[in-house]
Amino acid sequence: MAAMRDLPASEIPRHLSQRRPLLLSLPERETGDVLAKPVEDLQDIGPARAKALRGLGVATLGDLLEYFPRDYQYESEERPIDRLREGEISLARGEVTAVNYIAGGHGKARFEATLSDAGCEASAGVHRLSLVFFHGAYLRRQIHPGLLLRVRGKVQFFRGIAQMVNPKWEIVEPGTKAVEDAKFRAVYPASSRISSETIERIMSANLNEALAEVGEWFSPEILSRRKLMGRLEAYRAIHQPTDRRQAIAARRRLVYDELMLMQLGLAASHLMKMTKISAPILRIDKTLDRRIRARFPFELTNGQQNAVWQIVRDLKSGRPMKRLLQGDVGSGKTVVAVYAMLAAIANKMQAALLAPTEVLAEQHYLTLRNLLHGSQVKIDLVTSRTRRQSRGAVATRIAEGQTHLAVGTQALLQEGIEFANLGVVIVDEQHRLGVRQRATLSDKGVSPHYLVMTATPIPRTLALSYFADFDVSAIEDLPPGRKPIKTRWLRPGQVAQAWEFVCEQVRGGRQAYIVLPQIQEDGDDAKSVIGRMRTLAAGPLKDLRLAALHGQMTTEEKEQAMADFRDGKIDVLVATTVIEVGIDVANATIMVIDGADRFGLSQLHQLRGRIGRGLFSSQCILVADGATPGAEARLSAMLNTSSGFEIAEMDLRLRGPGEFFGIRQHGLPEFKLADLTSELDLLQLAKEDAQAIFADDPRLNNADHIHLRTALLSKFGQNLDLAQTG
Ligand code: ADP
Ligand code: MG
Repeated sequence: MAAMRDLPASEIPRHLSQRRPLLLSLPERETGDVLAKPVEDLQDIGPARAKALRGLGVATLGDLLEYFPRDYQYESEERPIDRLREGEISLARGEVTAVNYIAGGHGKARFEATLSDAGCEASAGVHRLSLVFFHGAYLRRQIHPGLLLRVRGKVQFFRGIAQMVNPKWEIVEPGTKAVEDAKFRAVYPASSRISSETIERIMSANLNEALAEVGEWFSPEILSRRKLMGRLEAYRAIHQPTDRRQAIAARRRLVYDELMLMQLGLAASHLMKMTKISAPILRIDKTLDRRIRARFPFELTNGQQNAVWQIVRDLKSGRPMKRLLQGDVGSGKTVVAVYAMLAAIANKMQAALLAPTEVLAEQHYLTLRNLLHGSQVKIDLVTSRTRRQSRGAVATRIAEGQTHLAVGTQALLQEGIEFANLGVVIVDEQHRLGVRQRATLSDKGVSPHYLVMTATPIPRTLALSYFADFDVSAIEDLPPGRKPIKTRWLRPGQVAQAWEFVCEQVRGGRQAYIVLPQIQEDGDDAKSVIGRMRTLAAGPLKDLRLAALHGQMTTEEKEQAMADFRDGKIDVLVATTVIEVGIDVANATIMVIDGADRFGLSQLHQLRGRIGRGLFSSQCILVADGATPGAEARLSAMLNTSSGFEIAEMDLRLRGPGEFFGIRQHGLPEFKLADLTSELDLLQLAKEDAQAIFADDPRLNNADHIHLRTALLSKFGQNLDLAQTG
């Protein structure tokens, strides 16, 4: 994880100690806002095309410029028919010598025409080109023998005769010049309302105007060292390359730019935080340390111990902590977070704990209440389900400092909830929270300390990117006594085996979880908590004590069900993923995940982490058919590894970084071109170069960097601004 180190102090440029804002406000736009021109005002675009483009997310000239091809296609120049080649997209011309319409049922109707370019010796097969138009009834009135056509399409040979299916065609005069240039053309992601070709035409009509706005970001030295083409050239070449090699070089350049911009954004916000924003200095002495530890019913593991030391050092430093606490499911991250929160509270400051969902927030709330039972610490829960009036009351308590520890979702950061004196913020599972939320947290000039917990080890690719500005503490050991979990996969037809196993284990004194993907039955879908409870209680598990646990129950009902399970008054908990966190019953050694194909890989891993916590060996049974290749891959991964790290890498590969992070809702930067899972090398280069540029010209004031600076501010301006307030 060396990539995540802070810059050592010696690398912090001198001027930063003068506490000037790193980046000022947006520079004057020297070029006017040509790239902001709406598509309606562009060449070759009428209302219908404008609408179609907007449907593709292209609203301005700038969007158009960045509407990149998804592929390229080689098209040969116009050729005589006897020189057409299999598989090529070609232009050819000839006289129509025959037409035919075949009505054919079952949607097979087709119009056929034969072209010949051999004058009257049309009999010679090599000079014949056969055209097939499916659903071409209307062509009966347009194409007839004697016409001269020029056609374009992919050539295939059928019984020795060249053929094109659904070619483009036009009528030409005998004297029309042949098209002499072969062409390498872009293929754009298209829609039913606008074709790739139309987009290509629009692109060529407007590209020059857009390119006039493109400035170089980097010095010639960087370009030559990294073998990058110029930025302007790259934008032209990605749309209109002469050949595939040029297209690839263009893409590489623009991917580099994207990655670079992100690296600079991270570096800028990081340096600003380190230098401009101070954080409360917490006093943590031996007595306090002892008092906090006395709260925990166990000794800390080595991993927890190290994490606590690192955090204590951060909290005492006066600089905002920005630390990622990484540890597999069940490694005991919560107590480390609790340590940090109690340290803040003992220093007369508040602490906040943010979870990505309401259910998780509520689980944390219950866990903390339990752990801090009998202490002076006042805990409040805020989610969007908190009722209006009580929310007002909670907001007041938080604002007046009566609440010491607030647990919630992002609702905690919104809707005008102000903290009297926020010292420490803990975020659980950051990868589901976005950069924007991250920025909002350090809004007030004096930043709280900030700890992110994640059970999902951040894969190396992402560590180099999104989390590049975090310090990392990793808990690599598990609390003592954890046992490996055996995992099995049963098909739905074999599910009776699972119930038998549950019965047998309960008779032996153990307890079980049965997890389902939804609460209520939905049509004919029986994979629900309510439905399963009913069938199990009536049949396979009728002698056992069952209870349901799901998100529609009230907090009290849930608390009750969990307490009963913990106290052994319940044998089997039939639940949704609410049990993903916060439940910890060492005697529960069986987990049946029914409908396992419906869960994501990380979620399955997280769920499985609920068992294997006691003296007895544990078993996880996945019930599913491998309905899709994706489901198959997830389930196999579960059988083959119990390493959270491998699972996370696999999950990233299966889902891509976008979904992995739940990008859209949470505003993480998305790449138009870069693919973090395969472009690691370029990312590494961009990172090195970004650090060099930043060390040299952190305010990007250098004339060479003017375009880069504008781009950086327009991409991250909001976040950078937030980070520098106060
Ligand atoms: P996670 O890292 O998945 O959030 P938790 O913080 O929920 O893990 O901890 C998992 C369980 O392990 C909790 O019930 C907790 O009480 C227990 N635990 C944590 N640390 C220790 C320890 N040092 N010794 C024994 N049990 C521990
Ligand atoms: Mg946890």
